[in-house]
Amino acid sequence: MVISYLGLGSNIGERSVLLGQAIALIGQKIGPVVRFSDIVESEPYGFVSNNMFLNMVVAVETELAPEALLDATQEIERMLGRVEKTVDGKYSDRTIDIDILLYGDTEYSSSRLTIPHPHIRERRFVLEPLKQINPEYGRQLS
Ligand code: AMP
Repeated sequence: MVISYLGLGSNIGERSVLLGQAIALIGQKIGPVVRFSDIVESEPYGFVSNNMFLNMVVAVETELAPEALLDATQEIERMLGRVEKTVDGKYSDRTIDIDILLYGDTEYSSSRLTIPHPHIRERRFVLEPLKQINPEYGRQLS
């Protein structure tokens, strides 16, 4: 069993409802959600939109290997109405986005997956909620 930290974001639709639905599906398909951060509101990152994001981070206990975990998070994104990932390599509005931030202490890299997530440090809407539920990670950074 590994504890993985997932970053959730939503900027269209009933954002807080979508976050709740994502957490329920994570519990069913990935494993028990053992911690969750407060929800923070943030500007879209990397693209222009009038729709603000709600973001949060959850800790989940899972038996899934990294690639299977990505399959599961992408299935949940599709179930919650996310049609496409990025368009022409650019970001766009999304009902739900799930990023794998950390997977235990493991470093993992493949053609479709990089763990720890490469953008953790530069995105405050990820870093602050992550530090809130994982103080040890916050200490490593300071
Ligand atoms: P997104 O930012 O959700 O549009 O993700 C675009 C792509 O990033 C996905 O199709 C994944 O294959 C890839 N990716 C690489 N590393 C990660 C990670 N740690 N968590 C989630 N997606 C990742």
